[in-house]
Amino acid sequence: SGNMAKSKFEYVRAFETDDTCLRNCYIVVRLDGRNFHKFAAQHKFTKPNDDRALGLMGRSACSVMEELEDITIAYGQSDEFSFVFKRTSTWFKRRASKLMTHVASQFSSSFVFYWKEFFGEQPLLYPPGFDGRVILYPSNRNLRDYLCWRQADCHINNLYNTVFWTLVQKGGLTTAQAEDRLKGTLAADKNEILFAEFDINYNNEAALHRKGTTLIWEKRDETVTKCMKLLNKEEKDVPVTRSRRRVEAYHCDIIGDKFWEEHPDILED
Ligand code: ATP
Ligand code: ATP
Ligand code: MG
Ligand code: MG
Ligand code: MG
Ligand code: MG
Repeated sequence: SGNMAKSKFEYVRAFETDDTCLRNCYIVVRLDGRNFHKFAAQHKFTKPNDDRALGLMGRSACSVMEELEDITIAYGQSDEFSFVFKRTSTWFKRRASKLMTHVASQFSSSFVFYWKEFFGEQPLLYPPGFDGRVILYPSNRNLRDYLCWRQADCHINNLYNTVFWTLVQKGGLTTAQAEDRLKGTLAADKNEILFAEFDINYNNEAALHRKGTTLIWEKRDETVTKCMKLLNKEEKDVPVTRSRRRVEAYHCDIIGDKFWEEHPDILED
């Protein structure tokens, strides 16, 4: 019978290993696009930054925050996004594989689902994939430093890519020549090349490109007009205000204290 089969085979469940995330720690899930160097080339991403792709990444991350529980902040740049679960979260009993795979699959399916909103008629040529990893951070300082690390990475890569592609697109250098030119240069040298040779002040480049995308929950009072019928009298339009939680995108510095002072609910005691 079915029951006997169950008792006979059920022992295999014991082969599952425990991957419960340590209590009190922030759980970070970071996704990264698989082979996006090739994906970007095949889908004609503009260099160094394709805003359609960045928009789609942000939209997909927003869907992850809206559909899954307990994510308080997300940060993304290039083909990666990090999601932070609040330290008290008990979602899926804090099982790392459950959290990570839910994030990765919700993100991937959203990336495909919303493709057209950002790329219009340009077809998606094959199903993209994202890898995921889980990292635990026991203190607020560790979590902040993690996010600082990702934003610093965004800055370093974007400064390099901005100069590189300016040298190619406006300076007429080949990619090999541009690479050569940038060998051993420091941030100050790169800023100077942009300013002196191309009249570009790096600080005036788009914040989306320089700072990446930070998503947080924000409470907003929303007022909608509702048509109501009052005590059998005539219908009347009345304004109804309610507090709504929605995901808001920022392209600001998250390394300094300012952002964290302005959003004190993100970090917990
Ligand atoms: P892996 O599978 O190891 O992650 P990868 O090719 O995805 O390999 P990454 O280090 O993740 O390598 O780099 C992602 C690459 O995708 C970037 O170097 C860049 O070429 C491209 N890319 C991602 N997003 C964009 C974008 N918005 N605009 C332009 N290029 C992008
Ligand atoms: P959880 O998120 O915990 O997995 P769940 O609703 O997905 O919740 P499952 O135990 O995975 O629960 O069961 C999947 C359910 O989906 C089935 O019980 C059935 O109702 C429905 N379902 C899945 N595939 C089919 C199918 N091919 N035809 C009809 N129903 C299906
Ligand atoms: Mg990689
Ligand atoms: Mg990648
Ligand atoms: Mg990457
Ligand atoms: Mg199921």
